[in-house]
Amino acid sequence: MIFLKSEGELELMHRANVLVHRALELVREAAAPGVTTAELDELAENLIREGGGRPAFKGYCGFPATLCTSVNDEIVHGIPSPKVVLAEGDILSVDCGAVVEGYYGDAAVTFAVGKASSEAERLMETTRRCLEDAVDQVRPGSRLGDIGAAVQRRAEAAGFGVVREFVGHGIGRSLHEDPQVPNFGKPGTGLQLKPGLVLAIEPMITAGSWRVRVDDDGWTARTEDGKLAAHFEYSVAVTANGPRVLGFEES
Ligand code: MG
Ligand code: MG
Repeated sequence: MIFLKSEGELELMHRANVLVHRALELVREAAAPGVTTAELDELAENLIREGGGRPAFKGYCGFPATLCTSVNDEIVHGIPSPKVVLAEGDILSVDCGAVVEGYYGDAAVTFAVGKASSEAERLMETTRRCLEDAVDQVRPGSRLGDIGAAVQRRAEAAGFGVVREFVGHGIGRSLHEDPQVPNFGKPGTGLQLKPGLVLAIEPMITAGSWRVRVDDDGWTARTEDGKLAAHFEYSVAVTANGPRVLGFEES
């Protein structure tokens, strides 16, 4: 079941995403060698609650934290912990969700702690551009396959892998709504986009194989071959004028 959102609903989702992007920015500034992912989680939770929202992930299917913090070969769903101490050269994927008046926001970034290798930089930059290419496909009449194909084209041209096991999703009054938004596909296929549809588009790109394994904690998904992974995400509304990335203040 697909729910199209009104202007008023988009405004609430925008507010939720403003909190998410502020939290991600705060976390990026605080992340440094010696800092733990639990400390970052607390910063994000406080910011969201002080901003009038609540963390979207905490308690979701039993997830214990505000952020997913995934280090190096971890792709998504890493659990913040006082035992995970960041080190110079790590890359950290941070995924954050917030709820404002019943409406959800969801976004993610990957960045280096200190200075990362040039290959890690290339992976992060490619993944960020995969997301931008995907956003460029968001307009009435284009299809889900156009989004997936745009991600896959850039990632594979760079020699990287596209994770299959996890996908983007619709978002609104729930964190995960229909449709699923794969990061692979064929142009011109799949659901046609309409104004009011909001998609969480989230390329997960690997430096090697796209195959995934999940840790014994039941959450942390990492690359099977131990190579690095990166993850970027925006919540994007389809409007008559094209994409609107929610959570950025209008200038
Ligand atoms: Mg997310
Ligand atoms: Mg998401």
